[in-house]
Amino acid sequence: MTARDFGPPTRTSTTLDLDAPGRTVGHIGLVHSTTPGIEYGVIPVPVVIINGSPGPTVLLTAGTHGDEYEGQILLQNLARTLTPSEVSGRIVIMPALNMPAVLDGSRISPLDGGNLNRAYPGDPDGTPTYALADYLTRYVLPHCTFAADLHSGGKASEYVPCGFMTRMPHGRDSAAQAAAMVAMGLPYTLVYDECTENRAMDTACDQAGVVMVSTELSGGGTINLHTLRAARDGLNRLLHHWGVLREADAPPTAGTKFIDVNDSRSSVMAPGPGLFEPAVGLGDRVGAGDVVGWLHAVDDPDMGSRPVRVEMGGTVVTRRVPPLVVRGNYLMSIGQELDPSTL
Ligand SMILES: [Zn+2]
Repeated sequence: MTARDFGPPTRTSTTLDLDAPGRTVGHIGLVHSTTPGIEYGVIPVPVVIINGSPGPTVLLTAGTHGDEYEGQILLQNLARTLTPSEVSGRIVIMPALNMPAVLDGSRISPLDGGNLNRAYPGDPDGTPTYALADYLTRYVLPHCTFAADLHSGGKASEYVPCGFMTRMPHGRDSAAQAAAMVAMGLPYTLVYDECTENRAMDTACDQAGVVMVSTELSGGGTINLHTLRAARDGLNRLLHHWGVLREADAPPTAGTKFIDVNDSRSSVMAPGPGLFEPAVGLGDRVGAGDVVGWLHAVDDPDMGSRPVRVEMGGTVVTRRVPPLVVRGNYLMSIGQELDPSTL
């Protein structure tokens, strides 16, 4: 039975067979009739399926945003090396999910400007990004038990190495998500409430009954080697925790610190234009009213630097990468420690 047999037509072109025994490599083809240089084309999004003995189905994705690299590398390595004998259940690996964005090294797809993590539940008659989201929503997620979507900061921002979980209003899966984050054991876990954004994969997974977590693995548009290694071990522990990987070879974790990032004062915005000089770094603790950096007027050396203060104390969990800012640009985020037993 192929994935397409489960429902009405999709504009994607695919040979995907989720039930094929052993290890198979398939693709979801994004049909695009105005691909530059050709009048009609199919952009193949690779899917590696590893079917082992009976057990849960886990979806692993990276490249939702094309300029976030650690997850893409982790899943490329896993897709190449994992064998069916190591798997109890099924692992579906998509290391380059929004392929046009991955090929472009950009957050969004150059074909349609689509941000895949703002495109769910998708649209079968939409542009490639929306058609892909629709395919995942209707043909892949209904078969999954668990999912992990691996993000990093991208070119524009950098995170402390962290797991990331979205708490839904009904809170049905929060404890299972938190347990997964503890098993993954990255230094931090950011907890976000689904209050302003319901177009991400998190909501699509929730509606399909899939327990989903994600990550923010450093970023800055490059590869952080320390984070890459920590995330490799974390993914190994996570898959074992979910019961889909028979053996875990990663060392025990030192634990994760849960951080709430929902307070409106979490985001520190530039109060004006200039060159931002940070006074604090990722993982630093700050107090309410502290100076976290200065803005320098680039065109007026006589003008004094302008201090930027935080309204709320906590831990610096993200930072902007490009130093040149205009008023309203985000500079950093401050999170507050959260007792995971409340999740
Ligand atoms: Zn991302």
